[in-house]
Amino acid sequence: AVDIRKVNKYYGPFHALKDVDLAIPPGKVTCLIGPSGSGKSTLLRCINFLEEYDSGEIRIDGQLIGYEVPGRKMSGRKLRQMRRSIGMVFQQFNLWPHMTAKENVAEGLIRVRGLSKSEAETRAAEALTKVGLADKMGNHPARLSGGQQQRVAIARAIAMEPRLMLFDEPTSALDPELVGEVLNVMKALASEGMTMVVVTHEMGFAAHVADQVAFMEKGELVAVDSPQGIFHAPKDERIWNFLRTYH
Ligand code: ATP
Ligand code: MG
Repeated sequence: AVDIRKVNKYYGPFHALKDVDLAIPPGKVTCLIGPSGSGKSTLLRCINFLEEYDSGEIRIDGQLIGYEVPGRKMSGRKLRQMRRSIGMVFQQFNLWPHMTAKENVAEGLIRVRGLSKSEAETRAAEALTKVGLADKMGNHPARLSGGQQQRVAIARAIAMEPRLMLFDEPTSALDPELVGEVLNVMKALASEGMTMVVVTHEMGFAAHVADQVAFMEKGELVAVDSPQGIFHAPKDERIWNFLRTYH
């Protein structure tokens, strides 16, 4: 579980997150939606402290991330250790171009987890099989479609056995016909009980896969509700206005 309480974040004078409160339940999918520039990526990146927040608290399974106590930063070593339980998938896949799919997945297991090469490759093969790429393990990224590359990126994250997965618009860089295969892999992950936070513009995914949907605007978390509540009975005019632009 992730508990976000009264989080504020400034970029210089710009107030990017305003007293954000959000409870992310374990084993559930939380989708973050809202207009461009509303702070979705900023909030997501604060969860693994890729972005520092200025006040408030973010706790992962009870443990404060980024700070020993509010105001005093934790050591880099401790932060890295906490991050090991958090997987992240970005819009850009960030694969190593000179490595095969299997090597891309195995790399972190060897370097970060200290697995032997053969152990790492066994686990990489399992993760790639899970995302439907058993037959592409020897391909370099240039020989994979965008959807396949993103599935390698997901395999790389899940091979580390995270207890939380963060996704920032994982399908935004894909051609429309490749979006579905990536969303299906995410759906399968959700059905296995992975705790997921997904920033997305895929309203169909949010409506059908999310357990809860959080709507942000101008740095404010305006509402958290069931998909039904957000999409069919929005309680705030700002949600309504945003959704109208999507049809
Ligand atoms: P999008 O849907 O376009 O990805 P978003 O909701 O993810 O938008 P963020 O990237 O979180 O939005 O940005 C929120 C606000 O913070 C924006 O106004 C943005 O310009 C600003 N911002 C983001 N990163 C920085 C930065 N490094 N320095 C200054 N301002 C920033
Ligand atoms: Mg963003």
